[in-house]
Amino acid sequence: MKARKGVAVRPIVSRCPWREREAHETTKPDILTEAEIQDIAVQISENGYRALPFVETGKQFFSCRDCYAVWLAGSVFERVPADQVSGVYDIAFIWTPAPETEKKE
Ligand SMILES: [Zn+2]
Repeated sequence: MKARKGVAVRPIVSRCPWREREAHETTKPDILTEAEIQDIAVQISENGYRALPFVETGKQFFSCRDCYAVWLAGSVFERVPADQVSGVYDIAFIWTPAPETEKKE
């Protein structure tokens, strides 16, 4: 049997660090705009939430279209562990920080 040429059917693999938590239908996360990051920063200072991680050169905040998780990465293809999600920025533009991870000190 010959392999068929043309469009390969690729399984949907989300880049979201929280892809294991619930069903994900999109593969490509959005990139947060400067305005969105500002909005999140305002909500953080108003609510006394944990600050967003420092954005190193070449890094960007990505946002999942399925679960609204937000994480910092160098590219969409970078694999980010689930505990490095900064928080959730939902459809109502409400920021909810991710729970702090226990491991520290
Ligand atoms: Zn997600």
